[in-house]
Amino acid sequence: MGMSQTGIQGQNFGPGLTKSVEFLGSVAKRPNKPAPEIGEPGPVLLVGAPGVGKGTQADNLAKLWGVPKISTGDILRANVANGTALGVQADRIMKLGGLVPDQIMTEMVADRLDLSDTATGFILDGFPRTVRQAQWLDGYLSIQRRGAHLGVISMCMDLEQIVKRVIYRRVCPLCKTVYNAQYIPPKQVGRCDKDGSELEQRSDDSLEVFQTRLDVFKQETEPLIQYYRDHSLFIEVDADKPPTLVTRDIVAGLMGLRTLMSR
Ligand code: ADP
Ligand code: AMP
Repeated sequence: MGMSQTGIQGQNFGPGLTKSVEFLGSVAKRPNKPAPEIGEPGPVLLVGAPGVGKGTQADNLAKLWGVPKISTGDILRANVANGTALGVQADRIMKLGGLVPDQIMTEMVADRLDLSDTATGFILDGFPRTVRQAQWLDGYLSIQRRGAHLGVISMCMDLEQIVKRVIYRRVCPLCKTVYNAQYIPPKQVGRCDKDGSELEQRSDDSLEVFQTRLDVFKQETEPLIQYYRDHSLFIEVDADKPPTLVTRDIVAGLMGLRTLMSR
């Protein structure tokens, strides 16, 4: 078993998962250097309840800053889709709304951070999710990244509103673009704007599994937010706004803090 309690209320997922991560995503090209007033982001973490909009913001920030988005959920889903040994075993846990063991996750992230596109910064989406994962990341940044300071963005929103974001989430199976049938609909109902594929619902976006994911968030991830509140570059943003406004608040907050720190 990994370092965290990955079982959901008494459920035991058995011995540690075998690691066979074949899909880490591709190295992102760096199309444009960020404008000087936007600056280099360094390592950034988006943390918040499932469905609060982390992936949407990570995409926006990655484009803006020309750095990769590293979504552990996306990497796991790619492994599930490709039937790797890890994918087969993680699928079981993800469908139930549990957490994949810490050790699997830290090794996966270490492999991804080894790729060359992370040199000037990266946006972490969905990792760390436990205090043990955060402790590992602290060690990694201090040893491998000469003590680079992690910018932590805590995305906050009323849980009742988040449920709607999750229930209406739709994803393109081909290009992975995320829509929301209610709030961010595609131009044609049920079809991806980019490639016309039929949009799908994630298997863990049912009300029932969402409730479990929320419980896991409260138990495992809220303590992590407290951990970061105490010792990092930390900002809270109101996620209950249109995506572009949330992005604006994140950039302003983070750049403000980094400027203060560099004085
Ligand atoms: P997370 O990565 O935190 O699970 P997502 O970024 O996938 O969340 O967003 C969850 C759902 O909410 C998606 O359907 C997405 O299109 C929608 N969404 C994201 N941000 C906003 C926003 N600011 N306003 C309305 N809907 C949003
Ligand atoms: P997400 O796409 O971030 O909503 O993640 C989907 C699922 O992947 C989660 O419910 C977990 O089962 C698993 N997962 C993603 N990231 C992690 C992580 N850092 N630690 C453990 N499990 C994770």
